[in-house]
Amino acid sequence: MAKGKIKVNTENIFPIIKKFLYSDHEIFLRELIANATDATKKLHALASMGDFKGEIGDDTIEIILDKKAKTITVSDKGIGMSQEEVKKYINQIAFSGAEEFVNKFKDQAESSNIIGKFGLGFYSSFMVAERVEIISKNYKDEEASHWECDGSPEYSLKAGNKETRGTDIILHIAEDSTEFLEEARINNLLTKYCKFMPVAIKFGQKSEWVDNKEGKKDKDGNVEKEEVKVDNVVNNPSPAWTKAPSSLDDEDYKSFYRELYPMNFEDPLFHIHLNVDYPFNLTGILYFPKIKPNMEVQKDKIQLYSRQVFITDSVEGIVPDFLTLLHGVIDSPDIPLNVSRSYLQSDGAVKKIASHISKKVSDKLEELFKKDRADFESKWDDIKVFIEYGMLSDDKFFERAQKFALYKTTTGKYYTLDELKETIKPAQTDKDDKLVVLYANDVDGQHSYIESATNKGYEVIVLDSPLTAHLVGKLEQTLENSTFVRIDADTIDKLIDKNEEIPSKLSDEEKEKLKPVIEDVVEKSKFNVQFESMNETDQPMTIVQPEFMRRMKDMSAVGGGM
Ligand code: ADP
Repeated sequence: MAKGKIKVNTENIFPIIKKFLYSDHEIFLRELIANATDATKKLHALASMGDFKGEIGDDTIEIILDKKAKTITVSDKGIGMSQEEVKKYINQIAFSGAEEFVNKFKDQAESSNIIGKFGLGFYSSFMVAERVEIISKNYKDEEASHWECDGSPEYSLKAGNKETRGTDIILHIAEDSTEFLEEARINNLLTKYCKFMPVAIKFGQKSEWVDNKEGKKDKDGNVEKEEVKVDNVVNNPSPAWTKAPSSLDDEDYKSFYRELYPMNFEDPLFHIHLNVDYPFNLTGILYFPKIKPNMEVQKDKIQLYSRQVFITDSVEGIVPDFLTLLHGVIDSPDIPLNVSRSYLQSDGAVKKIASHISKKVSDKLEELFKKDRADFESKWDDIKVFIEYGMLSDDKFFERAQKFALYKTTTGKYYTLDELKETIKPAQTDKDDKLVVLYANDVDGQHSYIESATNKGYEVIVLDSPLTAHLVGKLEQTLENSTFVRIDADTIDKLIDKNEEIPSKLSDEEKEKLKPVIEDVVEKSKFNVQFESMNETDQPMTIVQPEFMRRMKDMSAVGGGM
């Protein structure tokens, strides 16, 4: 039997690592299953190149929990390791990764900003185990290996007792980690991290009700069901995002949505299948969720994967801010795993990925708009909050959105900004030739103002989201020589001032009497009382709030919210 010392500078690095990753102990299982998956996929690759000629057979990875022995075993039927290979891959490679990690973060032991999702590999098993065994036999059928290490830099390596190809990693769970000996806890980790890993993973058994074998029937003549125990396979090895978009239909995308969010009963509005090879690798499916009125939009629904291994569902800083409102999956091996969140956010590759995703989303929206405008219009009210948010937080997106962003009028028509301009140009220019865009933000409350405008043949657009105040300013800058005014900011003839004096119906004496009475009940500093330009309706006067007064108020109400 060989004994050896793992080459590390720190006498005992395990306690340090344990402390570092306090909140992330649970990732050990993901790391071990990811290794088992790699070993299995390598075997398939060798077989397809002709380097492995044997029978692969069932390649399911098995997780075995033994509460009495206090062990968790991860067992695969992959390429396996001989004693020589264990020396090389575990003693040198696995531990060099750990050593590097310690050296890098040693000085930050107390700081909390290294809580990222680390990919620590095999070595992370020591976060929960006091002793780890590897029993392995490689695909070349060389003598099996048996490695053991108790968390000190000492290990032992001897011939193993294993007949079949593959690797068993046996974790002897430490006293402070017995929570991982609970079936429910393991199930929960498998669902979180391994749901879409590319090789089948089984954990225990489950009940299934099938037709009984003897064909017995109940009194109604139906075949009776009997309970059978079947393997509990916890993952779907080929999730929708890994498939070619052309092989999937709408129903496939919807059912994948339900797979991702079993508790979300509302179908999404539509999806975007991302599939990029250059300049980086990225696949995924993004969904525009249906938002119920008055419901808080849930952020952090997008799940980030690297080659089907779950990394995180808190993607802020990784995808463009406004896309954190979407649902779905992004998978990229180019997003570095072994680093902290703050590093991720400043990483150049990650930034490129973010802007690329934003472009893909706008391309898709444009395509949907062009393909079936009526359908796009029918969805507009539901998706506009995403798009307006995107337009305000991402200038490039704002530019691209000019092709598909719509403005709905109070009469139910939808225009792009260009179309709106062309439509209203003949009638809605004032004496200085300025284009006057009328908008309402409360269709019911501003009903009478809207009516007098539409009676004159003017279009009034509805801008009623919480972002309106910010959007109006931005649109005004975009649309040359224009002014956006809220419909109740003045009487309609003042809003579009064509320099035509319209006399009041009231005499000067009447006006003088009436004005102070009204000003007494409304706040004088915020509103104006007017008598002119009222010949279109039967009203003798209006109370208006000028655009500038109102905008000041609106901006401060939502200010800082962006
Ligand atoms: P990484 O997986 O990032 O390369 P690890 O520390 O997890 O690093 O593992 C080091 C090496 O040990 C792997 O690259 C692989 O060669 C070998 N290894 C680990 N687990 C297995 C396994 N279940 N079967 C075969 N080889 C394995």
